[in-house]
Amino acid sequence: MKPPVLRLKRGRDPRVRVHPWIFKGDVADVSDVEPGAVVTIVDVAGRFVGRGLYNPRPALCCRVVTWRDEAVGDALLRRRIAVAVARRTEHGALPTLGRLVWSEADGLPGLVVDRYGPVAVVQCLTLGMARRRRDLVSALREAIGDVPVFSADEPGQATLEGFDPARTWLDEHGPDHVIVEEGAVKIGVTFGQGHKTGLYLDQRENRLRVAAHAAGCDVLDAFSYTAGFACHALVAGARRAVCLESSPEAISGAHENFKLNDVADRARIVAGNAFDELRRLDRSGERFGLVVLDPPPFARGRDALDAAARGYKEVNLRAMRLLAPGGVLATFSCSHHVSAEMFEAICREAAGDAGVSLRVLDRLTQSADHPEALTIPETRYLKGVLLHAV
Ligand code: SAH
Repeated sequence: MKPPVLRLKRGRDPRVRVHPWIFKGDVADVSDVEPGAVVTIVDVAGRFVGRGLYNPRPALCCRVVTWRDEAVGDALLRRRIAVAVARRTEHGALPTLGRLVWSEADGLPGLVVDRYGPVAVVQCLTLGMARRRRDLVSALREAIGDVPVFSADEPGQATLEGFDPARTWLDEHGPDHVIVEEGAVKIGVTFGQGHKTGLYLDQRENRLRVAAHAAGCDVLDAFSYTAGFACHALVAGARRAVCLESSPEAISGAHENFKLNDVADRARIVAGNAFDELRRLDRSGERFGLVVLDPPPFARGRDALDAAARGYKEVNLRAMRLLAPGGVLATFSCSHHVSAEMFEAICREAAGDAGVSLRVLDRLTQSADHPEALTIPETRYLKGVLLHAV
């Protein structure tokens, strides 16, 4: 059976063959197709472009899975999963903590798979992937062995795509709570709770890198989630850490992590709005040798860019004022719409207003298991700068 056809408005312009996103506005016409099904994409002249998964509901209505004239079926998805897993296998072993499949960057748009020790967590971001969930999980088990699989769909994204988010064990039940090791630090994860698939795995390498500047310091971990940065800093020899966080679930996770790492006596978490707390700390005259600033994405869409820029400038300005002489600031943005250049320009303005001179020690990005596809700029979304107050 031949897949239905989606015809683009444009010809074979160079962008068509390198970026897998097709928006409703790009589509000239599409034959009658079941939501979530495979379509053959052709250009305005009817020439083959690729095949992808279609959903008439969201503005981003089709994600290309292949640019070749091949079937998008179980065999192809199985192969892609096997390749994604093989990419992350080193010396015959898979890391016990990390991302195994990352959506577009692994040729599986709409599918995320993370490993937390004995458990795999699957997140379907599109209807097309959600409909194929069972087959994808069987392919995953073929690649990594027979592990319990927790499904952690994001309700907002599922609503956008028009499917019921699954937040449950898929068949075989696994442990609801595990303790994973990230370098020298232990971190608790409760499946179905918290953000992302449990942890911000994209910051895994940065937590290790930033901790290298922590010895002997007073540390401020702003927007701390479950205090991953603070725990790493304390285990690496920081004197004490203050965390700022607003989510009660994250705060209770942070308390657990302080205990797990035997650092509770040196750690404090302040529940509340980090914007207000940064201001309060400044007024109280506290200063820190290491400040980590890892806010949520302030710009969820392009239209929110101005407000996001103001938000980033404000928190960075406050954080810079809190640096002790010779202190280090690790500042991040995970907004897709804020480029690395724009983020650094904002930091530059903040430094100007704060009246501090900062030297760039390093530029940071997401962990290597969240690879960047050169032709899909959205796959480089986490930007960080490590700055040294001089
Ligand atoms: N650094 C963390 C990830 C931080 S994600 C890690 O490595 O695990 C951003 C965090 O900011 C989330 O936990 C979110 O709950 C919190 N947050 C969002 N808005 C906030 C606000 N206004 N004040 C304090 N925390 C906030």
